[in-house]
Amino acid sequence: ADWMKPKPEETREPVDLQTDRPHPARVYDFLLGGKDNFPADRGAAEAGLRANPNSRIPPRENRAFLRRAVEYLAGEAGIRQFLDIGTGIPTSPNVHEVAQAIAADSRVVYVDNDPIVLAHARALLTSKPEGRTEYIDADLRDVRRILDSPQLRDVIDFDQPVALLLIAILHFVGDADEPYAIVQDLLDALPPGSYLALSHLTGDFDPVAWEHVAAIYARQGVTMQVRPHDDIARFFTGLELVEPGLPLVTKWRPDEHVSPDITDTQVSVYGGVAKKA
Ligand code: SAH
Repeated sequence: ADWMKPKPEETREPVDLQTDRPHPARVYDFLLGGKDNFPADRGAAEAGLRANPNSRIPPRENRAFLRRAVEYLAGEAGIRQFLDIGTGIPTSPNVHEVAQAIAADSRVVYVDNDPIVLAHARALLTSKPEGRTEYIDADLRDVRRILDSPQLRDVIDFDQPVALLLIAILHFVGDADEPYAIVQDLLDALPPGSYLALSHLTGDFDPVAWEHVAAIYARQGVTMQVRPHDDIARFFTGLELVEPGLPLVTKWRPDEHVSPDITDTQVSVYGGVAKKA
């Protein structure tokens, strides 16, 4: 039985947290008000806040979009399997909590390449007994490794639709790493009726501020490439976007939690959900 298996942390080598340099997951955690970050992460986040004082709004609104997108997928779309790449440090409600609140038998595979996300993976493995969760320590750019992973094959039935979640991760993949081919390869592995939910930072509303933020990341060795709307729309090539398309995340099926007085410039994240025919 599952509960008899050793917890992943107990079977792994000690994790090298690489605390000397900022990591996107920890910077994001700091901006969301979390505690799982180090001085290098806070330094980068604070430099980002000086360049763009609204830097806390995109993470918060992005996280709210993630919740609404999963509610849609588990609810209206009837999806029971989720592949969440670029999971981030656990932040309640996590994807499996949102999905399993709607359908207890939902199965979620989480993937991230940050050692601290791995160190916190236990918090993601709290599935309801009817469902399953798994965590894979892997890089989005290594699609084969993800798709061939035994944990993935164990949890996901590739004859049934899957929702691929790429939420606030692709702006960390520069053009040199061929992000469009990566997304295409992942989608090719999924059966018809599957979905892609994706969000992405944009400089469309304040190019100068976001150039500054990207430059701060670059100095610390982290690639950040914000993209214009057309380039983000390209990730959905061949798919059918569900209503309302690819707006700013605050305009994607907003609920009463979206604050009415946030400006487009402050949000600066596009998000959409699309179906594979
Ligand atoms: N999806 C979550 C977290 C977004 S933060 C949310 O929207 O709330 C971006 C996450 O992507 C971080 O946890 C970071 O570690 C991860 N990430 C960035 N590049 C990655 C890569 N190449 N492979 C796997 N994960 C990556």
